Amino acid sequence: MTDIWKMKRQIDRDRREFENEAMKDYDRDVYFPARKKLIEECRTLRHVEGHYYDNGLGWTFLYCGKCGIVMQKFGPNDEVLIEGIDF
Ligand SMILES: [Zn+2]
Repeated sequence: MTDIWKMKRQIDRDRREFENEAMKDYDRDVYFPARKKLIEECRTLRHVEGHYYDNGLGWTFLYCGKCGIVMQKFGPNDEVLIEGIDF
């Protein structure tokens, strides 16, 4: 790794840590409860199959097309690691 690459990585890491710390209370009190409520409402109305994502290492993911939650996760040997969520 070049020094420039290491410096960039550290600058980005410092920013991400600052951002996470600054948003910690908001995420805990507002964002995560709202996201949880949204997912529950989507589950009640039924999740819909969205896009598949293959990470290139044998893992594939199926996301809900509305709320974005991972509906199913398949391992390298096609084992299902997360079973469908009421869809
Ligand atoms: Zn959903």
